[in-house]
Amino acid sequence: MWDYGRFVAERSGEGSGERGCSPPLLVSACLLGVRCNHEGEANTSEAVVALAGEFRLVPVCPETAGGLPTPRPAAELQPDGRVRNVVGDEVTSAYRRGAEHAVRLAVSLGAAGAVLKARSPSCGCREVYDGSFTRTRVAGEGVTARALRAAGIRVCSEDDVAAGGRPVEG
Ligand code: SF4
Repeated sequence: MWDYGRFVAERSGEGSGERGCSPPLLVSACLLGVRCNHEGEANTSEAVVALAGEFRLVPVCPETAGGLPTPRPAAELQPDGRVRNVVGDEVTSAYRRGAEHAVRLAVSLGAAGAVLKARSPSCGCREVYDGSFTRTRVAGEGVTARALRAAGIRVCSEDDVAAGGRPVEG
């Protein structure tokens, strides 16, 4: 059986001593190969995985941390700030719980920043889908991206990293 806790420990270098001095960086777990997206698949980004040479990558999936199952119905952020899934259920509270978990994790680690999955209703940090389930993009940020930024954590997207951007200042 797949062990999320062990996966986190391995990715973060816990116990190995190898990356103990690297600054911790929070990362959307699906970008690191965890099959936690709503379809039960990963969204692996090799550009993000390559950051392991410089940072201690700490995976987090706010939606599953908030109590949602995998797989789960697709959800989108609504114009009123709530989150609804494609079958009409409101899932805002689970998204908020996941965001609170991500902030606690980032703060407790002293994370240098966060690299997040683009356009997710949790992790999107510049654009999200507009709530109509028509793949229409609008400017905005997901629930977790917003909470991290409000807590003073620098956030960027996988697209920024793929384009050569650095996830932290300096
Ligand atoms: Fe990936 Fe974030 Fe969605 Fe989890 S909540 S599957 S980490 S985009």
